[in-house]
Amino acid sequence: MENTSTPTHCPYCALQCGMNITPLPQGGVEVTERPDFPVNRGALCGKGRTAAQVLSPAVRLTTPLVRDGGRLVEASWTEALDRIAERLSATRERYGADALGVFGGGGLTNEKAYTLGKFARVVLGTSQIDYNGRFCMSSAAAAGTKAFGLDRGLPFPLEDVPRTGCVILVGSNPAETMPPSLRFFTELRENGGTLIVVDPRRTRTAEQADLHLAPRPGTDLALALGLLHLVVAEGRTDEEYIRERTTGWEEARAAAMAHWPEYVERITGVPVPQLREAVRMFCEPEAAMVLTARGPEQQSQGTDTVGAWINLCLATGRAGRPLSGYGCLTGQGNGQGGREHGQKADQLPGYRKLDDPAARAHVAGVWGVDPDSLPGPGRSAYELLDALGSDVRALLLMGSNPVVSAPRAAHVEERLRSLDFLAVADVVLSETAELADVVLPVTQWAEETGTTTSLEGRVLLRRRAVAPPPGVHSDLYVLHELAARLGVEKGFPTDPEEVFEELRRASAGGPADYSGITYRRLAEENGVFWPCPEEPAGTGAGADAGEDEILDTLPDDPAANDDTALVTRPTAHPGTPRLFLDRFATPDGRARFVPVVYRGTAEEPDGAYPLLLTTGRVVSQYQSGAQTRRVAELNAAAPGPFVELHPRLAARLGAAEGDPVAVVSRRGRAVAPARITSAIRPDTVFMPFHWPGEGRANTLTNPALDPTSRMPEFKSCAVRVEVLGPG
Ligand code: SF4
Repeated sequence: MENTSTPTHCPYCALQCGMNITPLPQGGVEVTERPDFPVNRGALCGKGRTAAQVLSPAVRLTTPLVRDGGRLVEASWTEALDRIAERLSATRERYGADALGVFGGGGLTNEKAYTLGKFARVVLGTSQIDYNGRFCMSSAAAAGTKAFGLDRGLPFPLEDVPRTGCVILVGSNPAETMPPSLRFFTELRENGGTLIVVDPRRTRTAEQADLHLAPRPGTDLALALGLLHLVVAEGRTDEEYIRERTTGWEEARAAAMAHWPEYVERITGVPVPQLREAVRMFCEPEAAMVLTARGPEQQSQGTDTVGAWINLCLATGRAGRPLSGYGCLTGQGNGQGGREHGQKADQLPGYRKLDDPAARAHVAGVWGVDPDSLPGPGRSAYELLDALGSDVRALLLMGSNPVVSAPRAAHVEERLRSLDFLAVADVVLSETAELADVVLPVTQWAEETGTTTSLEGRVLLRRRAVAPPPGVHSDLYVLHELAARLGVEKGFPTDPEEVFEELRRASAGGPADYSGITYRRLAEENGVFWPCPEEPAGTGAGADAGEDEILDTLPDDPAANDDTALVTRPTAHPGTPRLFLDRFATPDGRARFVPVVYRGTAEEPDGAYPLLLTTGRVVSQYQSGAQTRRVAELNAAAPGPFVELHPRLAARLGAAEGDPVAVVSRRGRAVAPARITSAIRPDTVFMPFHWPGEGRANTLTNPALDPTSRMPEFKSCAVRVEVLGPG
């Protein structure tokens, strides 16, 4: 196995591009194109192309570290694991199980996320587990569940995008975050469709749009309501669809009608003629989509904001129809799967609710424990981090770097430092790992087999292609060893396929049903879309009823025909590429309008902090940068943070290109060079968030939480800018 090319998937973002990896005779591996995967057809961004460099022992951890005399020093695995088990045990004895916290990551495979959730609830007995995916798309999940009864990032394959009539892309910049996906939008326009981009910045994606709406940060909710108002006023609603497939329209309509276009223009800064043009472009074609990403979601009213965009889709008869609907472009590699299998504070495997007695009984049965022994829902990610050192005294953290990626990061760093005990399992010595009492070096993507679930809800198999360096073990090994030391000898296998087989049983019958998916099918079929229930041989009938009919209505598209997941198999459920075509996942099968009204962000500009800050990503770095900042080519392309200022704002401040400027919020200050560009609104500044230290953007961000999703408001806070003089 280890001398040949192995098909697998990128370790980074939720697009999960297919790639081949081949061990090189001189050591290391080479990443090459893999044209057979329909999502990226061989294309990779710079992060994917260079991903193999993080496998090098030169940049990653290869030995456990323990804190001795204030310093991290090398230790044996036995010493490190013993120390973690002893400290977790002692903390539980002294303060109770809920004094133990567990923090996971959206980059962990499904098997790891599943095992981490089980470990927290069965071995530690704590309710205090959540993961960094809470920071990424949880408002979309909450809004999608409210409206459709089920949330799956995209309820249709990306291959549908070029064949729709219009896409409104809200707060998403795929040109930087997932470049190979941009071709879907380019092909959309080549096919005669139109692209509308909603973003306060004229991003590289917005430059390709037919219409760019640039609202003030934090006002996407008003924008969506204003568009719905115009849809109603111009008689563009789909009354038959509303009658047949939805409930709650009258309340939602009444709420939207209070948002006159002129009022919305005052709030958002988007001129009324642009609002009218957007409505025309969205409503005229037979099919259209709204896709959201972190822009509208990372707000303290993110659930309502996404709900307002979903209402627009429902009023115009888009959701649950061919080539149409609402979808969320998730961010992290396994952000989708990570929240489906139990590392989220309120959920059990299979996307089951932790407070549902039937769900508890089912999962407890699979785990062989008493349902009453399972803890209830715990704190959300930021609330958990905020409780460190007080209610939560010891933390086990896997695959996350909140010192850089959490909001109000200086406070989070201070909370982490205040813990009685911190253990971190990671590939590299991240800024968070540097604070730990014990650090465990773990295997990564090319060194281990496991599954992820992409932004399309397509479950994928990542395959082991190379051996890890000596002294490095899987997270599954870590959890197996800790469970044994804490008195649970069984139920924590180290073989990923064995874990997946249990996950299949745990998810069976749940919303995210993986029971019909096997490693063999994933390898043969290039992934399988959930839900995919197991069916007895000979009874597999097809995906969503009506899928074949729907596919018959689609225009010919060779790319679509390549999608082997769409083939109806005679003896197994084929998976479900398209959701909701016949009915929504609500008790009555109808989608629910949710009446929402505009409210502003938690922090509005004032005399002391007169500007708005918004944050985001650049193409050559990924999330907290823990991996990508260790790759020379990526660092050369994106060496550090910057502050985007509009020329008018720069002139008013007296800032020139490259001048160091301090951005100051109520939570702290960050310093970075000015980058002057007319691509940003004059009332707004932008910083990417990939770096630690004095340029850490998340020092500034506001942890105000959405009341439903508990997602922090990364996308908008009040700041002032101080020019520090020429660099
Ligand atoms: Fe990897 Fe995402 Fe880049 Fe594809 S777009 S190569 S999945 S980082």
